[in-house]
Amino acid sequence: MRFNPKARIDQSQIQTRRGGGGGGGMRLPIPGGGGGRGGQMGIGTILVIVLVVVLSQCMGVDIMGGGGSPSSGGDQTTANECQTGEDANQSDACAIDLFTTSVQNYWKQAYPEETGDQYDVVQTVRFEGSTDSGCGRASSQMGPFYCPNDRKVYLDKTFFDDMLEGQLGAAGGPFAIGYVVAHEYGHHVEDQLGVLGKIRTQKGPKSDAVRVELMADCLAGVWAKGAQETRDQDGQAIIEGLNQDDIERAINAAQAVGDDRIQKRSGGRVDTDSFTHGSAEQRVRWFNKGMSEGTIKGCNTFATDNL
Ligand SMILES: [Zn+2]
Repeated sequence: MRFNPKARIDQSQIQTRRGGGGGGGMRLPIPGGGGGRGGQMGIGTILVIVLVVVLSQCMGVDIMGGGGSPSSGGDQTTANECQTGEDANQSDACAIDLFTTSVQNYWKQAYPEETGDQYDVVQTVRFEGSTDSGCGRASSQMGPFYCPNDRKVYLDKTFFDDMLEGQLGAAGGPFAIGYVVAHEYGHHVEDQLGVLGKIRTQKGPKSDAVRVELMADCLAGVWAKGAQETRDQDGQAIIEGLNQDDIERAINAAQAVGDDRIQKRSGGRVDTDSFTHGSAEQRVRWFNKGMSEGTIKGCNTFATDNL
């Protein structure tokens, strides 16, 4: 795929920030067994930590509300250089922005058609370093997440750099960025649908947490199906030449973040009782279901036990 060079990024949907000094910050939970084994952390270990943290934070640290610590300040809003599809073809940061435009323009149209309600356009905060969020301090180590308290998607560029270099076990490619952006906006769609308020069980193969994550994967698939027809504010195509290889790359990214894959990478044993996002196979299956059915209704993971 490539972006239509003339497509325009909707800058009103994006905030770019560079984090101020260390302030507050969150301790990284080290997954099982970490810490014990000598001082040296291999790159593999670091990546596993990053991934586990990405997953555990994907829904935001404070999903049930209550607002995190506002803290520190010192964040600088930076000028956004990204304007067009041309920019997005050349820079991953700009690609994040144009995918945001694509995903939200898709839902602006599709959400009312299916639900009869308006879709609330929200903002992506694209940051480097760390920044404040309604769910506490967001840092690069946390990876992408949606914060329901301030209804914003937080994306740090470092995560995508790692993903595109294949360090997270995904094959990379621009459409993999699209998958991640669309997954996070899937949580915003769930928020609007009232699904996030239904989370009671946080862990396990049939937990509400897993259902919410698989539904977000499915909603990412719904967007993927409509991505090539989605237009910018001027009615111009955004994504061109989407092919099976692009889809495979999105699927590959979904697999790489399956709980079983991460557990294998971190220690070797797959423990379904601690699943929070679903297995690689489940994540891909729900993404594909979204892509083939193309409806929110088809993504109702709460209506089935066949996850
Ligand atoms: Zn998620």
